[in-house]
Amino acid sequence: MAAAACPPDDGIVYQALADSASAAVVAEDFSPGSPADAEARGLLNAGFDVVPVPCTPRQPAWVLPYAPGIAALGAVDIVCLFCPPGSLPAAAAEVLRLPCSPRLVWLRGSGCSGAGAMLSSAGTAVAHGESLAAAFAGLFDGGSPFFSCRRCGKCCEGRGGIVVSPRDLTRLSVFLGMPGQEVLDRCTEPMRGQPVIRCGSDGFCMFFRAGEGCSIHPARPAVCRAWPFFRGNLVDRVSFGMARQDCPGISRGCSHAAFAWEGYRYLREYKLLARDRRTEGAMLIVDEKDLPLTGR
Ligand code: SF4
Ligand code: SF4
Repeated sequence: MAAAACPPDDGIVYQALADSASAAVVAEDFSPGSPADAEARGLLNAGFDVVPVPCTPRQPAWVLPYAPGIAALGAVDIVCLFCPPGSLPAAAAEVLRLPCSPRLVWLRGSGCSGAGAMLSSAGTAVAHGESLAAAFAGLFDGGSPFFSCRRCGKCCEGRGGIVVSPRDLTRLSVFLGMPGQEVLDRCTEPMRGQPVIRCGSDGFCMFFRAGEGCSIHPARPAVCRAWPFFRGNLVDRVSFGMARQDCPGISRGCSHAAFAWEGYRYLREYKLLARDRRTEGAMLIVDEKDLPLTGR
């Protein structure tokens, strides 16, 4: 990777976020409501696999297990250093010793620091700011030009479609403050070998609230995040037409080919593409070669 200016421009941060799936948050304090707690939760809700790393060994447990230290991280796409200024140089040096260099190191705070300059001069992309999760929301929250949910609730009615993947389960467990097994027992039922969100007696998803919408919106499963960009709608013009009739949020003015390529971009950038149909929603497994030849 080419050496980045300090700080790099938004384009470098955008590309690193778009291409990344995992992030480590290194901090001294993960207590509820702390900046590191908010950062780790925000990145989970943005679709990242998150590994918390304590700067000090005597850290009370966070909701997900800690990595014992930066050296134990292995391959991770992004490292967020939220440690106190005094520990930053040592943490940056440990990052530089990782066998796989991260795409981006995010340093909490403003302005260039010695640690940032050290990382930058070694060729690691570095950015500074209060919160990478907030930066992600700012850079990606444009959503899609072809879709804007009207919160009519139609797609939250019906049983069995909302698969809970292992990544969804982690996010729900953190959001609801329940162990994963309790989330599975209380909120899901098995269907075709996978856990799916239960329905209430009204036929709507148990998390749907009339007049309010989704009560777990920041942590909702990938299938809910991905609609209407399901495989069927991307690869098949007829399915796309039917989805557009059912969902008032889909733009009336776009062609199928343009919708398909925009949907593929959306799934990729929001980390929603799936690979394993045994544990993830099959509607999120999309291969670029199945998309229309035009519209790219
Ligand atoms: S049917 Fe479409 S517009 Fe209505 S809630 Fe679902 S996604 Fe939003
Ligand atoms: S989890 Fe939320 S978005 Fe998904 S079906 Fe339930 S209420 Fe709707």
